Amino acid sequence: MTLQTSLQKLRTPWVERISRELASGEGVRAGFSEQLVRFYELLEQTVMTGDTAWLDPILYDWGRSPTETNLEEGDYNVSFVINRMIALSIETARETLKQKDALEFIAAVVPILTHSLSVVVRYEMETRVAHISSELGKTQDKLQQLDRNKSNFISVAAHELKTPLTLIEGYTSMMVDIAQNSEQSQMNSYLEGVNTGIHRLRHIIDDMIDVSLIDNNLLILNFQPLWISHLFTLLGNELKRTVEERKQNLTVNPFEGSEIMIYADTERLYQALHNVISNAIKYTPDHGTITINGRLLPGFVEIIITDTGIGISPEHQAIIFEKFGQLGRTDLHSSGKTKFKGGGPGLGLPITRGIIEAHGGTIWVESEGYDEVKLNGSTFHILLPTRTEPTDPSMTKFFGQFSQDKKELETETSGKENPSTDKSPA
Ligand code: ADP
Repeated sequence: MTLQTSLQKLRTPWVERISRELASGEGVRAGFSEQLVRFYELLEQTVMTGDTAWLDPILYDWGRSPTETNLEEGDYNVSFVINRMIALSIETARETLKQKDALEFIAAVVPILTHSLSVVVRYEMETRVAHISSELGKTQDKLQQLDRNKSNFISVAAHELKTPLTLIEGYTSMMVDIAQNSEQSQMNSYLEGVNTGIHRLRHIIDDMIDVSLIDNNLLILNFQPLWISHLFTLLGNELKRTVEERKQNLTVNPFEGSEIMIYADTERLYQALHNVISNAIKYTPDHGTITINGRLLPGFVEIIITDTGIGISPEHQAIIFEKFGQLGRTDLHSSGKTKFKGGGPGLGLPITRGIIEAHGGTIWVESEGYDEVKLNGSTFHILLPTRTEPTDPSMTKFFGQFSQDKKELETETSGKENPSTDKSPA
């Protein structure tokens, strides 16, 4: 018997055997049998021509056919069917054909079915990967939506809180006036307490507003000429009392780059540095040291703030720059702003990062880990572009002349101090 005749002879028993074994229920079986007939015809074409491309369209359809449930449950039905098909083809051939014809059939068909299996596995995998990617995309969209909701909530809550706070502030200042006139010293000290509370609440609300501005890319920087050393002088003065109260040592070492004029948002940069240094004070025990160093790099100035405090664990280092990254640690929450370990709502560093990144810079932390006994300390690095041109052209008009004058003045003074640069004829 020729191979072609064997193929024709096996068609009906092959379809019946496979559909009986692999399809459950009458309805399913009818549809499945139709598919099997189509498959068998293409299998015959493949055997006769030696070209496996004949089977490609049906394998493609089958490989892409898994339902949503199949994908979710990780079923690989088609690969299973073809796998069983190989075994059942051998059995049917053995039962229906003579041994020689059966062997010829098996030798021709099994390699094609094995090839079909590898093709279908690839299609099924691709469908599954596409499904997983689309699920991931949906989850990511949901997370982004949640984050936007969170950010909107912060913004609405902050603005809603501001109105009653302004009222409380107004009435408190009237009460302060009355209490001062009536010389009720007890009342005065109570009102001082209320005022401190109002001040802290305003600070938290301002931080909430800043976070939502940063989240929504609405932070607008007002670039002005500044010298980093000046910022440190101001910060040193503001934090002097706190550092003294905590018996700490705050040292600002002059460094190359702190004396050059750069364009940056003075107020925002002050706020960012204030956050990092206040944290260094907060998370360093009494008598500890906070040191500020830095260096000039090509196109950047690096500010390095090191403390001898409790340090930060590696897993924590990754989340402290995220908003509310600190929320889980209620043990650290406190009403004091400079008290040792007096954790706040965890908005300071996200705002700092937002400000530094809006300047085109970056911030990161290094620490050997959290240990309140060993006191590993933490080192915050801030990389800030040394922008020497204002971003706003009207600024050039305003400050351009000023920086030119300064340059000339510097050349003149250095020329006077150093006679070798004096260009006057001998
Ligand atoms: P918080 O208002 O809690 O201080 P921040 O955003 O300023 O929020 O800081 C987030 C968290 O990072 C802090 O609660 C603290 O756990 C950790 N942290 C920040 N700076 C330091 C530091 N210098 N040493 C140790 N931990 C720090």
